Amino acid sequence: MSQALLQLTGVTKTFGGIHALSNMVCEVPEGKIIGVIGPNGAGKTTLFNTITGAYRADAGEVKLKGVDVTQWQSYRIVREGIARTFQNIRLFGSMSVWEHLLVAQPHSEAAWRRLLPIAWANPAAQARAEEVLEFFGLTEYRDRPAKSLPYGIQRKVEMARAVTAKPKLLLLDEPVAGMNHDEAEEIRTLMLRLRDTGLSILLIEHDMNFVMRLCDYLYVLDFGVPIAEGTPEDVRNNPVVLDAYLGKD
Ligand code: ATP
Repeated sequence: MSQALLQLTGVTKTFGGIHALSNMVCEVPEGKIIGVIGPNGAGKTTLFNTITGAYRADAGEVKLKGVDVTQWQSYRIVREGIARTFQNIRLFGSMSVWEHLLVAQPHSEAAWRRLLPIAWANPAAQARAEEVLEFFGLTEYRDRPAKSLPYGIQRKVEMARAVTAKPKLLLLDEPVAGMNHDEAEEIRTLMLRLRDTGLSILLIEHDMNFVMRLCDYLYVLDFGVPIAEGTPEDVRNNPVVLDAYLGKD
């Protein structure tokens, strides 16, 4: 059996008395789209933060290609091939789309500003930015400052920026939140095309229709506890899930 790209066993994270994540077990195989669903406060973003080293797990293991990265700092995890987007858009307002795509996955605006002049002089960075611009259909927005773009395009730029780094695993936190149907469909198509290139995607999303039509496999969290997993079909028909999650919306 081939090894999963990402593997979590018993991952637990508490904040004071709050069990944000309890004994999480999940796998992301190569070239698959895996969804994480659950009501507000279920621990989904905590899961991403723990995978990326933004939070330190209290217990359990995070393995990337069999290597234990649980105690690694974020920058090392990024370098190993995990990229992410955030629930709230984090673009640098006055900078162009092109400039966002020149620097892959900076840790902060300060880091990005430091790296930008180096990337400007780097033909490989420019070629990659061009490639990603085209893949995401963003060429017409190339020189527009991020803040001048419609919301749906800003979200697309965020995803494009994460992809620029050529990650093995992409973590997407609610990529279609606030988008209309056509915009969400475009994101769905892009995600399927990314999967076809061999990229693995771990997705948090509240839009159940979107999740059910896209994911190969799902994990369901409730109050930090993994309560179910399976194919979208399995999960849709699981009474525990209906009770804990779907019934509340
Ligand atoms: P949503 O769907 O609303 O984004 P979520 O499933 O992503 O929710 P988390 O944001 O992971 O949920 O939060 C899980 C729990 O952990 C919540 O009770 C939240 O208040 C708590 N929590 C998350 N991060 C912190 C933190 N840095 N400090 C204290 N509590 C936190």
